[in-house]
Amino acid sequence: MKILFASAEVAPFSKAGGLADVVGSLPKQLEKNAEIAIFTPLHGCIDKEKFSIKELENSEMWITFGSQPQKFNLYKTKLPGTNINVFFIKNDWYFTPFKEVYPKYLDPMYEHERYISFSLAVMEYAKALNFRADVIHANDWHTAMIPLYLHSNYKFDDFWKNTKCVFEIHNLAYQGIWFEGVLDFANMRKDIVYNQWGCEHYNRVNWMKGAINYSDRVVAVSPTYSREILTGEYGENMDYTLRGIQNKLRGILNGIDYTVFDPAKDRALVENYDVTTFEEGKEENKKALCKYFGLKYNPDRPIIALISRLVGQKGIDLIRDMQHELQHLNADFIFLGSGDKDYENLFIWLSNNTSNIRTYVGYDAKLANLIYAGSDFFLMPSKFEPCGLSQLIAMRYGSLPIVRATGGLEDTVTGYPLDNSNGFKFWAYNGWDMFNAIKCALYVYTDKYVFNAMRKSAMQADFSWKRSANEYLNMYREITGLK
Ligand code: ADP
Repeated sequence: MKILFASAEVAPFSKAGGLADVVGSLPKQLEKNAEIAIFTPLHGCIDKEKFSIKELENSEMWITFGSQPQKFNLYKTKLPGTNINVFFIKNDWYFTPFKEVYPKYLDPMYEHERYISFSLAVMEYAKALNFRADVIHANDWHTAMIPLYLHSNYKFDDFWKNTKCVFEIHNLAYQGIWFEGVLDFANMRKDIVYNQWGCEHYNRVNWMKGAINYSDRVVAVSPTYSREILTGEYGENMDYTLRGIQNKLRGILNGIDYTVFDPAKDRALVENYDVTTFEEGKEENKKALCKYFGLKYNPDRPIIALISRLVGQKGIDLIRDMQHELQHLNADFIFLGSGDKDYENLFIWLSNNTSNIRTYVGYDAKLANLIYAGSDFFLMPSKFEPCGLSQLIAMRYGSLPIVRATGGLEDTVTGYPLDNSNGFKFWAYNGWDMFNAIKCALYVYTDKYVFNAMRKSAMQADFSWKRSANEYLNMYREITGLK
Protein backbone atom coordinates (compact mmCIF):
# COMPACT_ATOMS: atom_id res chain seq x y z
CA MET A 1 0.00 0.00 0.00
CA LYS A 2 1.30 3.48 -0.92
CA ILE A 3 0.56 6.40 1.37
CA LEU A 4 1.31 10.04 0.70
CA PHE A 5 1.48 12.41 3.68
CA ALA A 6 1.21 16.15 2.99
CA SER A 7 1.90 18.58 5.80
CA ALA A 8 2.99 22.20 6.37
CA GLU A 9 5.51 21.07 9.01
CA VAL A 10 7.44 17.86 9.72
CA ALA A 11 9.73 17.25 12.72
CA PRO A 12 12.71 17.31 12.94
CA PHE A 13 13.02 19.52 9.83
CA SER A 14 10.48 22.21 10.73
CA LYS A 15 8.28 22.53 13.77
CA ALA A 16 5.80 25.02 15.18
CA GLY A 17 3.61 22.64 17.18
CA GLY A 18 2.17 19.17 17.55
CA LEU A 19 1.40 18.68 13.83
CA ALA A 20 5.13 18.41 13.07
CA ASP A 21 5.60 15.77 15.78
CA VAL A 22 2.74 13.70 14.42
CA VAL A 23 3.81 13.71 10.77
CA GLY A 24 7.43 13.14 11.82
CA SER A 25 6.63 10.08 13.93
CA LEU A 26 3.45 8.28 12.76
CA PRO A 27 5.00 7.23 9.39
CA LYS A 28 7.82 5.45 11.27
CA GLN A 29 5.28 3.06 12.76
CA LEU A 30 3.57 2.48 9.40
CA GLU A 31 6.80 1.85 7.52
CA LYS A 32 6.67 -1.93 7.90
CA ASN A 33 3.25 -2.17 6.27
CA ALA A 34 3.26 0.57 3.67
CA GLU A 35 5.39 2.52 1.23
CA ILE A 36 5.35 6.11 2.40
CA ALA A 37 6.24 9.49 0.90
CA ILE A 38 6.03 12.70 2.91
CA PHE A 39 5.67 16.09 1.15
CA THR A 40 6.33 19.39 2.90
CA PRO A 41 7.42 22.91 1.87
CA LEU A 42 11.08 23.81 1.90
CA HIS A 43 10.79 26.57 4.51
CA GLY A 44 13.66 29.02 4.91
CA CYS A 45 14.35 27.66 8.41
CA ILE A 46 15.14 24.11 7.22
CA ASP A 47 18.81 23.21 7.53
CA LYS A 48 19.62 21.49 4.21
CA GLU A 49 23.16 20.54 5.19
CA LYS A 50 22.33 19.10 8.58
CA PHE A 51 19.69 16.77 7.12
CA SER A 52 21.48 16.08 3.77
CA ILE A 53 18.60 17.49 1.77
CA LYS A 54 19.53 17.32 -1.92
CA GLU A 55 17.85 18.59 -5.05
CA LEU A 56 16.57 15.95 -7.46
CA GLU A 57 17.90 16.09 -11.01
CA ASN A 58 15.74 17.93 -13.56
CA SER A 59 13.22 18.70 -10.86
CA GLU A 60 12.23 22.13 -12.14
CA MET A 61 8.52 22.44 -12.80
CA TRP A 62 6.32 25.40 -13.77
CA ILE A 63 2.71 25.51 -12.66
CA THR A 64 0.30 28.31 -13.51
CA PHE A 65 -1.92 29.89 -10.87
CA GLY A 66 -4.50 32.37 -12.09
CA SER A 67 -2.47 33.58 -15.04
CA GLN A 68 0.86 33.64 -13.22
CA PRO A 69 3.36 30.82 -13.82
CA GLN A 70 5.38 29.76 -10.75
CA LYS A 71 8.64 27.87 -10.62
CA PHE A 72 9.09 24.89 -8.29
CA ASN A 73 11.97 22.54 -7.52
CA LEU A 74 12.01 19.30 -5.60
CA TYR A 75 14.43 18.28 -2.83
CA LYS A 76 14.65 15.01 -0.99
CA THR A 77 16.08 13.28 2.07
CA LYS A 78 15.19 10.37 4.36
CA LEU A 79 13.27 10.72 7.59
CA PRO A 80 16.05 10.19 10.20
CA GLY A 81 16.35 6.57 11.31
CA THR A 82 14.08 5.29 8.54
CA ASN A 83 13.98 4.55 4.84
CA ILE A 84 11.05 6.92 4.28
CA ASN A 85 11.41 9.55 1.54
CA VAL A 86 10.68 13.12 2.55
CA PHE A 87 10.18 15.50 -0.41
CA PHE A 88 10.59 19.23 0.03
CA ILE A 89 8.89 21.54 -2.44
CA LYS A 90 10.89 24.67 -3.09
CA ASN A 91 9.43 27.93 -4.26
CA ASP A 92 11.32 31.20 -3.90
CA TRP A 93 8.26 33.39 -3.87
CA TYR A 94 6.21 31.52 -1.26
CA PHE A 95 8.44 29.55 1.13
CA THR A 96 12.20 30.04 1.08
CA PRO A 97 12.20 33.71 2.17
CA PHE A 98 10.73 32.92 5.60
CA LYS A 99 12.56 31.72 8.68
CA GLU A 100 9.33 30.79 10.44
CA VAL A 101 6.94 28.02 9.50
CA TYR A 102 3.97 30.37 9.98
CA PRO A 103 5.28 33.91 9.55
CA LYS A 104 3.19 36.51 11.35
CA TYR A 105 1.46 39.44 9.61
CA LEU A 106 1.15 37.89 6.14
CA ASP A 107 -1.51 39.14 3.80
CA PRO A 108 -4.29 36.51 4.00
CA MET A 109 -4.59 36.13 0.23
CA TYR A 110 -0.86 35.50 0.06
CA GLU A 111 -1.19 32.89 2.80
CA HIS A 112 -3.84 31.10 0.75
CA GLU A 113 -1.68 31.34 -2.37
CA ARG A 114 1.20 29.70 -0.51
CA TYR A 115 -0.72 26.60 0.43
CA ILE A 116 -2.79 26.34 -2.76
CA SER A 117 0.44 26.31 -4.72
CA PHE A 118 1.99 23.79 -2.33
CA SER A 119 -1.01 21.45 -2.52
CA LEU A 120 -1.15 21.46 -6.30
CA ALA A 121 2.63 21.04 -6.55
CA VAL A 122 2.37 17.96 -4.28
CA MET A 123 -0.04 16.34 -6.72
CA GLU A 124 1.98 17.25 -9.79
CA TYR A 125 5.26 16.06 -8.30
CA ALA A 126 3.72 12.80 -7.04
CA LYS A 127 2.58 12.19 -10.60
CA ALA A 128 5.98 13.10 -12.05
CA LEU A 129 7.61 10.65 -9.61
CA ASN A 130 5.01 8.05 -10.53
CA PHE A 131 4.05 7.75 -6.85
CA ARG A 132 0.50 6.50 -7.37
CA ALA A 133 -0.74 6.78 -3.81
CA ASP A 134 -3.51 4.48 -2.61
CA VAL A 135 -4.19 6.98 0.14
CA ILE A 136 -3.38 10.66 0.42
CA HIS A 137 -3.30 11.69 4.06
CA ALA A 138 -3.76 15.48 4.18
CA ASN A 139 -3.36 17.46 7.40
CA ASP A 140 -5.14 20.66 8.47
CA TRP A 141 -6.28 23.48 6.18
CA HIS A 142 -2.86 23.96 4.56
CA THR A 143 -3.29 20.78 2.55
CA ALA A 144 -7.10 20.70 2.55
CA MET A 145 -7.05 21.73 -1.13
CA ILE A 146 -5.81 18.28 -2.13
CA PRO A 147 -9.13 16.43 -1.66
CA LEU A 148 -10.81 19.28 -3.54
CA TYR A 149 -8.43 18.98 -6.50
CA LEU A 150 -8.89 15.21 -6.49
CA HIS A 151 -12.63 15.68 -6.65
CA SER A 152 -12.64 18.41 -9.31
CA ASN A 153 -9.71 19.08 -11.65
CA TYR A 154 -8.32 15.54 -11.37
CA LYS A 155 -11.63 13.73 -11.19
CA PHE A 156 -11.16 12.06 -14.56
CA ASP A 157 -7.40 11.74 -14.38
CA ASP A 158 -6.50 8.08 -14.77
CA PHE A 159 -3.45 8.44 -12.55
CA TRP A 160 -5.53 9.31 -9.50
CA LYS A 161 -8.43 7.03 -10.35
CA ASN A 162 -8.02 4.69 -7.37
CA THR A 163 -6.63 7.17 -4.84
CA LYS A 164 -8.56 7.60 -1.59
CA CYS A 165 -8.25 10.55 0.74
CA VAL A 166 -7.96 10.88 4.51
CA PHE A 167 -8.20 14.34 6.01
CA GLU A 168 -6.93 14.87 9.53
CA ILE A 169 -8.10 17.73 11.73
CA HIS A 170 -5.35 18.69 14.16
CA ASN A 171 -7.09 21.91 15.06
CA LEU A 172 -10.55 22.92 13.87
CA ALA A 173 -9.93 26.54 14.89
CA TYR A 174 -7.91 27.19 11.72
CA GLN A 175 -10.06 26.41 8.67
CA GLY A 176 -8.60 28.46 5.82
CA ILE A 177 -11.40 30.88 4.89
CA TRP A 178 -11.25 33.44 2.06
CA PHE A 179 -13.27 35.07 -0.69
CA GLU A 180 -14.61 33.25 -3.73
CA GLY A 181 -11.94 34.84 -5.94
CA VAL A 182 -9.33 32.56 -4.40
CA LEU A 183 -10.77 29.75 -6.54
CA ASP A 184 -9.70 31.64 -9.67
CA PHE A 185 -6.16 31.75 -8.39
CA ALA A 186 -6.36 28.01 -7.68
CA ASN A 187 -7.73 27.37 -11.19
CA MET A 188 -10.24 25.15 -9.46
CA ARG A 189 -13.53 24.09 -11.05
CA LYS A 190 -15.92 26.48 -9.32
CA ASP A 191 -18.97 24.79 -10.82
CA ILE A 192 -18.04 21.60 -9.02
CA VAL A 193 -16.69 22.75 -5.66
CA TYR A 194 -18.36 26.05 -4.79
CA ASN A 195 -21.61 24.93 -3.19
CA GLN A 196 -22.78 23.85 0.24
CA TRP A 197 -21.79 20.21 -0.40
CA GLY A 198 -18.31 21.37 -1.32
CA CYS A 199 -16.27 24.24 0.09
CA GLU A 200 -18.82 27.05 0.23
CA HIS A 201 -19.48 28.11 3.83
CA TYR A 202 -21.45 31.26 4.68
CA ASN A 203 -20.60 32.77 1.26
CA ARG A 204 -16.88 32.20 1.61
CA VAL A 205 -14.49 29.54 0.45
CA ASN A 206 -13.67 27.29 3.40
CA TRP A 207 -10.93 24.81 2.49
CA MET A 208 -11.45 22.64 5.53
CA LYS A 209 -15.14 22.23 4.77
CA GLY A 210 -14.27 21.11 1.26
CA ALA A 211 -11.82 18.55 2.57
CA ILE A 212 -14.33 17.29 5.13
CA ASN A 213 -16.96 16.83 2.44
CA TYR A 214 -14.76 15.19 -0.18
CA SER A 215 -12.48 12.92 1.88
CA ASP A 216 -13.20 9.23 2.40
CA ARG A 217 -12.37 9.49 6.09
CA VAL A 218 -12.02 12.45 8.44
CA VAL A 219 -9.86 11.97 11.52
CA ALA A 220 -9.83 14.07 14.68
CA VAL A 221 -6.79 13.61 16.89
CA SER A 222 -8.56 12.20 19.95
CA PRO A 223 -11.84 10.37 20.55
CA THR A 224 -13.21 13.05 22.89
CA TYR A 225 -12.33 15.85 20.45
CA SER A 226 -14.08 13.93 17.65
CA ARG A 227 -17.27 14.08 19.73
CA GLU A 228 -16.79 17.63 21.01
CA ILE A 229 -16.51 19.12 17.52
CA LEU A 230 -20.03 17.95 16.78
CA THR A 231 -21.35 20.47 19.31
CA GLY A 232 -21.96 24.19 18.99
CA GLU A 233 -19.52 24.91 21.83
CA TYR A 234 -16.48 23.33 20.15
CA GLY A 235 -17.63 23.09 16.54
CA GLU A 236 -16.17 26.43 15.32
CA ASN A 237 -19.21 26.88 13.01
CA MET A 238 -18.44 23.53 11.40
CA ASP A 239 -20.49 21.34 13.75
CA TYR A 240 -23.46 21.13 11.39
CA THR A 241 -21.28 19.90 8.53
CA LEU A 242 -19.48 17.46 10.82
CA ARG A 243 -22.72 16.04 12.18
CA GLY A 244 -23.64 15.28 8.59
CA ILE A 245 -20.53 13.16 7.98
CA GLN A 246 -20.38 11.35 11.32
CA ASN A 247 -20.32 7.98 9.55
CA LYS A 248 -16.83 8.71 8.20
CA LEU A 249 -15.49 10.65 11.21
CA ARG A 250 -12.96 8.86 13.46
CA GLY A 251 -11.15 9.90 16.64
CA ILE A 252 -7.65 8.46 16.85
CA LEU A 253 -5.36 9.46 19.66
CA ASN A 254 -1.93 10.89 18.84
CA GLY A 255 1.13 9.32 20.34
CA ILE A 256 4.65 10.57 21.00
CA ASP A 257 7.93 9.14 19.83
CA TYR A 258 9.39 7.47 22.93
CA THR A 259 12.85 7.36 21.38
CA VAL A 260 12.85 11.16 21.05
CA PHE A 261 11.27 11.91 24.44
CA ASP A 262 13.24 9.71 26.81
CA PRO A 263 14.46 11.02 30.18
CA ALA A 264 16.98 8.16 30.32
CA LYS A 265 18.80 9.47 27.24
CA ASP A 266 17.82 13.11 26.83
CA ARG A 267 20.96 15.24 26.62
CA ALA A 268 19.14 18.40 27.65
CA LEU A 269 18.92 17.09 31.23
CA VAL A 270 21.62 17.49 33.87
CA GLU A 271 20.95 13.97 35.10
CA ASN A 272 19.19 11.18 33.24
CA TYR A 273 16.71 8.94 35.00
CA ASP A 274 14.09 6.28 34.42
CA VAL A 275 11.15 4.88 36.31
CA THR A 276 13.41 3.29 38.94
CA THR A 277 15.62 6.32 39.55
CA PHE A 278 13.30 9.26 39.05
CA GLU A 279 13.32 10.44 42.67
CA GLU A 280 16.99 11.40 42.70
CA GLY A 281 17.12 12.18 38.97
CA LYS A 282 14.28 14.66 39.01
CA GLU A 283 15.64 16.42 42.11
CA GLU A 284 18.94 17.14 40.33
CA ASN A 285 17.10 18.58 37.36
CA LYS A 286 14.92 20.60 39.70
CA LYS A 287 18.02 22.14 41.28
CA ALA A 288 19.37 23.07 37.84
CA LEU A 289 16.01 24.54 36.87
CA CYS A 290 15.85 26.66 40.05
CA LYS A 291 19.32 27.93 39.34
CA TYR A 292 18.43 28.80 35.74
CA PHE A 293 15.39 30.80 36.81
CA GLY A 294 16.90 32.33 39.97
CA LEU A 295 14.60 30.52 42.39
CA LYS A 296 15.68 29.15 45.75
CA TYR A 297 15.73 25.34 45.67
CA ASN A 298 13.48 23.90 48.34
CA PRO A 299 12.54 20.19 48.27
CA ASP A 300 9.32 20.95 50.15
CA ARG A 301 8.13 23.42 47.53
CA PRO A 302 6.89 21.96 44.25
CA ILE A 303 7.49 23.51 40.85
CA ILE A 304 4.48 23.85 38.58
CA ALA A 305 5.40 24.35 34.91
CA LEU A 306 3.60 25.51 31.80
CA ILE A 307 5.03 25.20 28.26
CA SER A 308 2.76 26.45 25.56
CA ARG A 309 1.94 28.56 22.58
CA LEU A 310 0.43 31.65 24.18
CA VAL A 311 -2.94 31.82 22.45
CA GLY A 312 -6.55 31.96 23.68
CA GLN A 313 -7.01 28.19 23.26
CA LYS A 314 -4.46 27.38 25.96
CA GLY A 315 -6.40 28.86 28.89
CA ILE A 316 -3.92 31.57 29.87
CA ASP A 317 -6.93 33.74 30.81
CA LEU A 318 -7.47 31.51 33.84
CA ILE A 319 -3.93 32.23 34.99
CA ARG A 320 -4.60 35.95 34.55
CA ASP A 321 -7.80 35.63 36.60
CA MET A 322 -6.05 33.79 39.44
CA GLN A 323 -2.71 35.60 39.46
CA HIS A 324 -3.14 36.95 43.01
CA GLU A 325 -4.10 33.58 44.45
CA LEU A 326 -1.22 31.81 42.68
CA GLN A 327 1.29 34.20 44.25
CA HIS A 328 0.35 33.05 47.74
CA LEU A 329 0.62 29.32 47.18
CA ASN A 330 3.44 27.27 48.61
CA ALA A 331 4.74 26.53 45.11
CA ASP A 332 6.87 28.05 42.36
CA PHE A 333 5.69 28.53 38.78
CA ILE A 334 7.80 28.36 35.64
CA PHE A 335 6.24 29.46 32.35
CA LEU A 336 7.79 28.97 28.90
CA GLY A 337 5.94 30.24 25.88
CA SER A 338 5.52 32.68 23.06
CA GLY A 339 2.57 33.98 21.09
CA ASP A 340 0.05 36.77 21.65
CA LYS A 341 1.65 39.96 22.93
CA ASP A 342 -0.93 40.42 25.71
CA TYR A 343 -0.09 37.04 27.23
CA GLU A 344 3.63 37.52 26.79
CA ASN A 345 3.39 40.85 28.62
CA LEU A 346 1.33 39.29 31.40
CA PHE A 347 3.97 36.63 31.93
CA ILE A 348 6.83 39.13 31.88
CA TRP A 349 4.98 41.31 34.38
CA LEU A 350 4.36 38.37 36.71
CA SER A 351 7.99 37.34 36.44
CA ASN A 352 9.20 40.82 37.39
CA ASN A 353 6.71 41.48 40.16
CA THR A 354 6.24 38.25 42.08
CA SER A 355 8.55 36.08 44.12
CA ASN A 356 7.32 32.70 42.91
CA ILE A 357 6.54 33.05 39.18
CA ARG A 358 9.31 32.98 36.58
CA THR A 359 9.00 33.21 32.82
CA TYR A 360 10.98 32.63 29.65
CA VAL A 361 9.27 34.22 26.67
CA GLY A 362 10.44 32.52 23.49
CA TYR A 363 10.77 29.10 21.89
CA ASP A 364 13.49 26.82 23.29
CA ALA A 365 13.17 23.05 22.84
CA LYS A 366 16.14 22.21 25.06
CA LEU A 367 14.95 24.34 27.94
CA ALA A 368 11.50 22.81 27.48
CA ASN A 369 12.90 19.34 28.16
CA LEU A 370 14.76 20.52 31.27
CA ILE A 371 11.50 22.03 32.52
CA TYR A 372 9.59 18.78 31.89
CA ALA A 373 12.28 16.93 33.88
CA GLY A 374 12.74 19.42 36.73
CA SER A 375 9.11 20.25 37.41
CA ASP A 376 6.75 18.34 39.71
CA PHE A 377 3.50 19.34 38.03
CA PHE A 378 2.56 20.49 34.53
CA LEU A 379 -0.32 22.93 34.09
CA MET A 380 -2.55 22.79 30.98
CA PRO A 381 -5.81 24.65 31.59
CA SER A 382 -6.84 24.57 27.90
CA LYS A 383 -10.17 25.96 26.75
CA PHE A 384 -10.08 23.24 24.11
CA GLU A 385 -7.33 20.76 23.24
CA PRO A 386 -7.61 18.53 20.15
CA CYS A 387 -5.07 16.06 21.57
CA GLY A 388 -2.16 17.82 23.25
CA LEU A 389 1.30 16.34 23.24
CA SER A 390 2.75 18.40 26.08
CA GLN A 391 0.89 16.48 28.78
CA LEU A 392 2.14 13.20 27.28
CA ILE A 393 5.72 14.44 27.33
CA ALA A 394 5.26 15.73 30.89
CA MET A 395 4.01 12.31 32.05
CA ARG A 396 6.90 10.59 30.34
CA TYR A 397 9.25 12.86 32.33
CA GLY A 398 7.38 12.25 35.61
CA SER A 399 5.75 15.67 35.86
CA LEU A 400 2.10 15.24 36.81
CA PRO A 401 -0.34 17.08 34.56
CA ILE A 402 -2.99 19.39 36.01
CA VAL A 403 -5.47 19.75 33.17
CA ARG A 404 -8.88 20.93 32.16
CA ALA A 405 -10.67 17.75 31.08
CA THR A 406 -11.28 18.54 27.42
CA GLY A 407 -10.36 16.77 24.15
CA GLY A 408 -7.20 14.70 24.34
CA LEU A 409 -6.57 15.84 27.92
CA GLU A 410 -9.73 14.02 28.98
CA ASP A 411 -8.60 10.88 27.10
CA THR A 412 -5.03 10.71 28.35
CA VAL A 413 -5.05 11.89 31.96
CA THR A 414 -6.55 9.78 34.75
CA GLY A 415 -7.46 12.20 37.49
CA TYR A 416 -6.67 11.79 41.19
CA PRO A 417 -8.05 9.94 43.20
CA LEU A 418 -9.00 7.24 40.66
CA ASP A 419 -7.02 3.98 40.46
CA ASN A 420 -3.67 4.41 38.72
CA SER A 421 -4.22 8.15 38.51
CA ASN A 422 -1.47 10.07 36.77
CA GLY A 423 -2.67 13.67 37.07
CA PHE A 424 -5.33 16.12 38.21
CA LYS A 425 -8.41 17.29 36.36
CA PHE A 426 -10.96 20.06 36.55
CA TRP A 427 -13.97 20.45 34.28
CA ALA A 428 -15.50 23.94 34.15
CA TYR A 429 -13.53 26.65 32.32
CA ASN A 430 -13.15 28.69 35.47
CA GLY A 431 -10.18 30.04 37.44
CA TRP A 432 -11.41 28.78 40.80
CA ASP A 433 -11.81 25.24 39.52
CA MET A 434 -8.26 25.36 38.20
CA PHE A 435 -7.10 26.74 41.55
CA ASN A 436 -8.77 23.91 43.44
CA ALA A 437 -7.13 21.31 41.18
CA ILE A 438 -3.75 22.95 41.89
CA LYS A 439 -4.47 22.88 45.63
CA CYS A 440 -5.35 19.22 45.39
CA ALA A 441 -2.00 18.59 43.65
CA LEU A 442 -0.16 20.48 46.41
CA TYR A 443 -1.90 18.36 49.00
CA VAL A 444 -0.77 15.17 47.24
CA TYR A 445 2.76 16.58 47.07
CA THR A 446 2.94 16.43 50.86
CA ASP A 447 2.19 12.70 50.81
CA LYS A 448 5.32 11.24 49.22
CA TYR A 449 3.88 7.74 49.03
CA VAL A 450 0.92 8.74 46.86
CA PHE A 451 2.95 11.34 44.96
CA ASN A 452 5.58 8.78 43.95
CA ALA A 453 2.98 6.18 43.04
CA MET A 454 1.34 8.70 40.73
CA ARG A 455 4.65 9.68 39.16
CA LYS A 456 5.38 6.05 38.54
CA SER A 457 2.07 5.41 36.81
CA ALA A 458 2.53 8.58 34.73
CA MET A 459 5.97 7.45 33.57
CA GLN A 460 4.73 3.95 32.82
CA ALA A 461 1.63 5.01 30.88
CA ASP A 462 1.98 3.99 27.25
CA PHE A 463 1.25 6.72 24.74
CA SER A 464 3.59 5.46 22.06
CA TRP A 465 2.38 5.31 18.46
CA LYS A 466 1.99 1.55 18.29
CA ARG A 467 -1.71 1.24 19.09
CA SER A 468 -2.83 4.33 17.17
CA ALA A 469 -0.72 3.36 14.13
CA ASN A 470 -2.73 0.14 13.91
CA GLU A 471 -5.96 2.10 13.92
CA TYR A 472 -4.69 4.20 11.01
CA LEU A 473 -3.61 1.12 9.13
CA ASN A 474 -6.99 -0.54 9.57
CA MET A 475 -8.67 2.62 8.34
CA TYR A 476 -6.48 2.75 5.21
CA ARG A 477 -7.29 -0.93 4.56
CA GLU A 478 -10.99 -0.31 5.04
CA ILE A 479 -11.16 2.43 2.40
CA THR A 480 -8.79 0.92 -0.16
CA GLY A 481 -9.77 -2.72 0.25
CA LEU A 482 -6.04 -3.54 0.26
CA LYS A 483 -4.26 -5.82 2.75
P1 ADP B 1 -0.03 22.61 20.02
O1 ADP B 1 0.23 21.71 18.87
O2 ADP B 1 -1.47 23.07 20.13
O3 ADP B 1 0.91 23.77 20.12
P2 ADP B 1 0.77 20.35 21.67
O4 ADP B 1 0.70 20.14 23.14
O5 ADP B 1 0.12 19.33 20.80
O6 ADP B 1 0.19 21.79 21.38
O7 ADP B 1 2.31 20.43 21.20
C1 ADP B 1 3.15 21.44 21.62
C2 ADP B 1 4.59 21.04 21.39
O8 ADP B 1 5.38 22.22 21.26
C3 ADP B 1 5.20 20.29 22.58
O9 ADP B 1 6.21 19.43 22.10
C4 ADP B 1 5.79 21.44 23.43
O10 ADP B 1 6.84 21.00 24.27
C5 ADP B 1 6.30 22.34 22.35
N1 ADP B 1 6.36 23.77 22.73
C6 ADP B 1 5.33 24.64 22.84
N2 ADP B 1 5.77 25.88 23.17
C7 ADP B 1 7.12 25.79 23.28
C8 ADP B 1 8.16 26.73 23.60
N3 ADP B 1 7.89 28.01 23.86
N4 ADP B 1 9.42 26.28 23.62
C9 ADP B 1 9.70 24.99 23.34
N5 ADP B 1 8.78 24.05 23.04
C10 ADP B 1 7.49 24.44 23.00
